[in-house]
Amino acid sequence: MKTSKKHPRYESLKYRHMLVEGMKKGYVTQSGLIAHGRGEAFDYLLGEKTIPEAFTAEKAATALMLSSRNPVISVNGNTAALCPKDIVRLARTIDAKIEVNLYYRTVKRERLIEKILLKNGAGKVYGVGRKASKRIPGLHSERAKVDPEGIWSADAVLVPLEDGDRAEALAKSGKKAVSIDLNPLSRTSQTAYISIVDNVVRAIPNMTKIALELRKLNCETLRSIVEEFDNAENLEKIVGRIRTGLSE
Ligand code: ATP
Ligand code: MG
Repeated sequence: MKTSKKHPRYESLKYRHMLVEGMKKGYVTQSGLIAHGRGEAFDYLLGEKTIPEAFTAEKAATALMLSSRNPVISVNGNTAALCPKDIVRLARTIDAKIEVNLYYRTVKRERLIEKILLKNGAGKVYGVGRKASKRIPGLHSERAKVDPEGIWSADAVLVPLEDGDRAEALAKSGKKAVSIDLNPLSRTSQTAYISIVDNVVRAIPNMTKIALELRKLNCETLRSIVEEFDNAENLEKIVGRIRTGLSE
């Protein structure tokens, strides 16, 4: 089905259709569609734009990724459906690895997502099939599986649309997790080292733009940008913004 660009909800419908297509092809799950709906509700409350607090978090997160030894971007079905090209561009710009990590892991889904990322210009995709041979401690499902060269040995991991359990497990294993999650109250947002409360389709290109500027800075300056950022305070401001927005 084709939606007219004049439709007042064109953007929103476009992304829904991309997810439905991904489901028909077999790499987006039914639960993925439901998760997107929850995201949309929060996006609505935040005005469907990058709020200043999100931009500040995006800047800190980009500085963190740029100053890390082995930064990795974790990709799931929804992310692959919504913004594969932007993921590849960001990975290139910050020199990060891309790893497939799925909640409902099947080799078929992993390979489909790998194919999409390669088609969009990725040089290498980690975590597919037997390459995901390590397990993050404290997680009992299939999504514990990670690539020894990827997330296993990463010091910073960007996790768009992550589940709370894994965000917690990543934190416990000493990695700095950067979440992209429109719900500031989710366990993911509450446990991440840096929580970006923005739509993944805006956050990823924003980070690429920021990286083009920040990568001119030295490691020490990048680290000071990360240090100056207060994640808990930032999240509180976001919840305050939703509250005020509703009472106005
Ligand atoms: P948690 O497991 O962290 O407690 P949850 O169980 O409520 O959270 P999940 O279903 O695990 O949520 O993950 C989906 C999350 O992703 C939701 O919090 C939702 O707001 C967010 N989300 C969905 N689509 C997007 C999107 N396009 N951009 C950013 N966030 C999104
Ligand atoms: Mg969850």
